[in-house]
Amino acid sequence: MPHSTQQTHHQIICTLCGESINLNQQSLIPPAIQGVHGWVCRSCIERAHHILNQQRQATLQKRIQLHPPKAIKAYLDQYVIGQEDAKRVLAVSVYNHYKRLLNQMHQSTQHTEAPPQIEKSNVLLVGPTGVGKTYLVRTLAQFLNVPIVIVDATSFTQAGYVGEDVESILSRLLQAANWDIPWAECGIVYIDEIDKIARKERDNPSITRDVSGEGVQQALLKLLEGSTVLVPPYGGRKHPEQPMIPINTQHILFIAGGAFEGIEQLVRARYRQTHLGFTPDQATLPSQNLLTNPYAYVTHDDLRHFGFIPELLGRFPIIVGLSPLNRTMLRQILTKPKNALLKQYITLLEMDGIQVHISEGAINELVDWAEALGLGARALRTLLDTVFLDLMYELPGSQTQRITIDRRFVHRRLTQRFGEKETLQRAA
Ligand code: ADP
Repeated sequence: MPHSTQQTHHQIICTLCGESINLNQQSLIPPAIQGVHGWVCRSCIERAHHILNQQRQATLQKRIQLHPPKAIKAYLDQYVIGQEDAKRVLAVSVYNHYKRLLNQMHQSTQHTEAPPQIEKSNVLLVGPTGVGKTYLVRTLAQFLNVPIVIVDATSFTQAGYVGEDVESILSRLLQAANWDIPWAECGIVYIDEIDKIARKERDNPSITRDVSGEGVQQALLKLLEGSTVLVPPYGGRKHPEQPMIPINTQHILFIAGGAFEGIEQLVRARYRQTHLGFTPDQATLPSQNLLTNPYAYVTHDDLRHFGFIPELLGRFPIIVGLSPLNRTMLRQILTKPKNALLKQYITLLEMDGIQVHISEGAINELVDWAEALGLGARALRTLLDTVFLDLMYELPGSQTQRITIDRRFVHRRLTQRFGEKETLQRAA
């Protein structure tokens, strides 16, 4: 039984440090708090809080592994074809982000003088559909041992309308972190299809309610600004009776991606306007690259034309363009990466004891069709499914042990399914 800590009516003894504390101190913060067995003074509480914080930070520091940018890029290279700029930018951003975070944790535990504040560098990926924006982030997630979520901006609406609250992004991050709040606060969020939350008036001046446009941008801005946000633990909509979990977004890295349809024309037009008639010197024009990859030249200003509030764009200081996939890249995606699509289908049949040979002509034919469909690498999966479906249905359990897929076979299967390739090309 602890000794009695109540000395006089206004004087108590802290059960932890034995200090005598006057309860009559004039202060907004109580000088001590009372437990079942006695009082604990404020400095003991603060010390305990500090020890816990230090231990928590030390655990986090151990969990976050700092990979140098080159190691991150080397990993991405094994899976993602091309998109050199995006890989380098992501590698450096992720590295800097965690370096900054670890440094801040170190400062706070060591009480050393704070270095100049380094701003967080959220990244915006701009590029056409199916060129690897989401895939880059997924691959990054495999490599980094931090909680990552991939969310679709189209599912969010302004509070009060049918849809999800923007804050539910953080609920998902919390789930990915196994409900460990400090761990979730070190995570990465990828927001896909960010272009779909552009202000709607641009296209439709008669619209009266813009429930998935500017309202969502404003809500997103709050997350990106690095504040403490109250989050419904299971996502969906907030409602008053639900207990909320506070999450600080200061150290969460946000990556967003979007196709921004039509932005190529905007970029080209901007360059034409700037240069035509004013600069006769062709050398000052961007290279041929502008014609093949206008996405590399996208600026914040271009995106503002697209219906984004400047404050939100300002929270994405880094914009990186992903290039459309050319024939060589499509071909490589089919055959080269560690888990190349073609390798996956061949392995599936090999599990049934069937050796598959696919001719160069067949691969060229697949690439021709992928170009005609115009959905980047997304088309490749649909095409392979079509080519392989009958084989995967017929061959298991049969006597066949070896097959060759040639150009004619691919052409026949795809024409049966999609009609003539030339018609597709015209439509695209
Ligand atoms: P988006 O750019 O629209 O986000 P995705 O990243 O979802 O496109 O690409 C769809 C699929 O295409 C991926 O899952 C991946 O299999 C393949 N893919 C796309 N781009 C690449 C690439 N550059 N390298 C390797 N595979 C790719």
